[in-house]
Amino acid sequence: MNGFCVECGINTNQLVNGLCMECFLKDRTLVSLPDHVDLSVCTSCGQFLWHGEYQSMASEKAIALAAKSALTCIREGKVVKVNAVIEPRDNYNYAVTLQCKVAISDFETDAVASTIVRIKNTVCKICSRRTGNYYEAILQVRTSEKTLSPALQDEVLKKIEDFVDYTATTNPNAFITKMEIVPGGVDVYLSMIALGRELVKLLGDQYCAETDESSKLVGQTRDGIEMYRVSYLVRLPEFHLGDIVRYGKKYYQLIRISNSGGKLRSLTNFQETPVRRANMPELKVYLKSSELEVADVISKSYGEVQIMDPTNYSMKDLLVPKDADIGETVKFARIDGILYYVPQ
Ligand SMILES: [Zn+2]
Ligand SMILES: [Zn+2]
Repeated sequence: MNGFCVECGINTNQLVNGLCMECFLKDRTLVSLPDHVDLSVCTSCGQFLWHGEYQSMASEKAIALAAKSALTCIREGKVVKVNAVIEPRDNYNYAVTLQCKVAISDFETDAVASTIVRIKNTVCKICSRRTGNYYEAILQVRTSEKTLSPALQDEVLKKIEDFVDYTATTNPNAFITKMEIVPGGVDVYLSMIALGRELVKLLGDQYCAETDESSKLVGQTRDGIEMYRVSYLVRLPEFHLGDIVRYGKKYYQLIRISNSGGKLRSLTNFQETPVRRANMPELKVYLKSSELEVADVISKSYGEVQIMDPTNYSMKDLLVPKDADIGETVKFARIDGILYYVPQ
């Protein structure tokens, strides 16, 4: 031992600022808390503001974190462990006592500090946007036909809702602000530009649809960043899977649609022809799949069926693929007075 306490004179090597541990700790406040600590909660979604962001957490945890974040310790020590004891005063005020272990060089001691955590009612940015009809993008769903059929409208809106719901599981900023039926389609207002961008791509690919986008400067943020509102257009094509289409003066059934284009099956020899996406707008719908006629099969042979034309009860022979599985009825397309078998 070659040290001694300047206060009590005891011989020890464990000196802090020239004092033995006992003299150093005497009447000294090791940890302290302010009189009160504010904790913001969103009254709408119940999330707590923590490190600048609203986060979902249990109120006990949020209260404890709020108190711990305000805890200060003397320069010579370090808090190595904290236990929070919370006692509610009322719905907005919680007395919190932090029981701490403080390390001073290689010595550990206990210390406590108390505060009141005050819950402040606020509305988070997301909730205020939701209630304020906030939107950054408009997805305009249109059709190449005269009107968007209710069935197709439902189908497309379901895809949009599913996509936004899925995105919202990881990004609470994602929501649909509103939907508006407009002449020739639907406008879907979206909270994020990214939603519009991804949805127009998704729908464009799934329906092999034409897409477009345009943006409009709507103002500036407080820090001078220009804000745009973007309109995304998806024009759903007239053709749908199963329709009879004209392409290059020949007739086909549309049997596949993908992001790269479509696939056609000839009505005369049943051969398949791919069509690039860029050429898809050239497809002209001749008959919708729902407009195909049905005829009774009278007899069938290899590569052929005999049917009764339901309009005049005459017998007609139709070519069918060699491997066709023919039941009691077949569907056919009538083009310029000639009947063509259409595989289903
Ligand atoms: Zn001493
Ligand atoms: Zn909220």
